[in-house]
Amino acid sequence: MVRRKDKKAAKTQASTTEFPREESRFTVVIVGGGASGIAAACAIGKIAKMNFVDVRVVILERGRRIGASILRSGNGRCNFSHEGITPEAYNRPVFVEQVFEALDTAFTLSPLAESLGQLPGGSSEDAVLQWFQSLGLVWTESAQNEGALYPFSNKATSVLEVLAAELDRCGVERYCGIEVFNIAKISDRYSLDLGDALAEGELAQSPQAFHADMVVYAVGGALRADVQPTGVLGALDWIPSVPVLGPLQTDTALLKDLDGMRAKVRLRCTERGFSEEGELLFRPYGVSGIVVFDASRFVEPGDTIVVDLAPDYSLDQLEEFLFERSRVLMRRNGYPHTYRELLRGFFLPELAESLVASGLAELPSATDGLDSEVSGAGITLLSTSIKAFSLKVTDRGSVDQSQLSRGGISVEDVVPTTMEAYVNPGFYVTGEVIDVDGPCGGYNLHWAWATGLLAGISLMQEHSFRSRISRDYSDL
Ligand SMILES: Cc1cc2nc3c(=O)[nH]c(=O)nc-3n(C[C@H](O)[C@H](O)[C@H](O)COP(=O)(O)OP(=O)(O)OC[C@H]3O[C@@H](n4cnc5c(N)ncnc54)[C@H](O)[C@@H]3O)c2cc1C
Repeated sequence: MVRRKDKKAAKTQASTTEFPREESRFTVVIVGGGASGIAAACAIGKIAKMNFVDVRVVILERGRRIGASILRSGNGRCNFSHEGITPEAYNRPVFVEQVFEALDTAFTLSPLAESLGQLPGGSSEDAVLQWFQSLGLVWTESAQNEGALYPFSNKATSVLEVLAAELDRCGVERYCGIEVFNIAKISDRYSLDLGDALAEGELAQSPQAFHADMVVYAVGGALRADVQPTGVLGALDWIPSVPVLGPLQTDTALLKDLDGMRAKVRLRCTERGFSEEGELLFRPYGVSGIVVFDASRFVEPGDTIVVDLAPDYSLDQLEEFLFERSRVLMRRNGYPHTYRELLRGFFLPELAESLVASGLAELPSATDGLDSEVSGAGITLLSTSIKAFSLKVTDRGSVDQSQLSRGGISVEDVVPTTMEAYVNPGFYVTGEVIDVDGPCGGYNLHWAWATGLLAGISLMQEHSFRSRISRDYSDL
């Protein structure tokens, strides 16, 4: 990859590590020390160790530490997987199904499955969960989000701790503050260009290029805007990335004074066939919250989202309830009452005002908004407004506000049974850098672990195949 010079960034990145001299051992470089890169490194290291195979496994991470993405996940609690994950939850279900099936088969034949046990009800047939069980992670299901799995300690550090211990046990080398800019194939090896950053920073004595026999490319999402894929990466088809699992910007006329307000809703977008229940958070620019994050995988700017603010009740039930309430208010007060009184104790006044503004805008008797006198027609319109509070989507959330980027390496370029790139034997891709995304709830980390493990197991199978061939030829 080529990148504009960024001297300041180079100084910050190149702070932690003395990069080692190259050796002639069979070397696997993992580019990116996030979830999928660590999973791949653990698998390769463990298989090599169990089979007494001499493989040097190196993680090159541009950040200050490995696993930072794991620590920030799930608000520091790491929703690391989900019970009963199915491929249909992802945007590329056929590809994902092939990957999961391949992993299930490869995993049972690998030495990665020896379990350290699990609390009652926790164990699973799933390869990713069995692997975590082998590392010693103990987990529980979220009480709020059915099926979402978190470490028993409720801390992401527990996940990183078991992974780091496995990397140590398997002798995986980790180097932080090193950014790989370009990867080229030279003869049958890969040359990784570590760019200007090292020469300019404190790692001046380190090599500017590093060679590997095989590479696992695990750099996560969103290609930087100033980066053009070249070399090995340029041979792959890149789908432009857009931020997903983030908030949505909407027209804001009805959102005045709602910032920070949360509501349990059903969110629909009929244009995209999306309908899901969950918590929504009003923001000055639009809407956020888990249900909105999930919607952001489907909704496009220009679409209308419809918020049902009383999802547990039908329109008829709601209307009947409001009419009855109105009748009681009439009896009790003996004079006409307003929408403010009708909705008091039901919706917060700011939201009540937006509901009236949205639903009763065309009603001549409701020109005073919340302080207008209640009418039968008004109650009917208000009930509809509560069940279908509509907002026009103007844009997606920014990259920084979003958990994921959709896009990246096309699934057409990746062998789903191994994670190897079709055009580059020995070059594996894993995790979010592939054009696969899933909903909130542990699906995306699960994808990262699954692809990392499959790449690691496949890479070692390919390595053993190549070693056998070269042995057989040398015997001739
Ligand atoms: C705030 C937040 C919370 C999240 N919470 C959850 C959650 O609870 N559950 C869930 O399932 N998903 C969650 N996700 C999504 C999840 O973190 C990702 O899907 C997952 O980390 C992807 O794994 P990965 O290995 O592909 O990439 P990452 O884990 O992002 O790792 C990529 C690594 O590569 C490094 N890197 C990038 N480029 C280079 C380079 N050129 N050279 C060297 N190193 C490089 C990066 O610094 C990074 O460490 C969350 C995301 C965010 C942003």
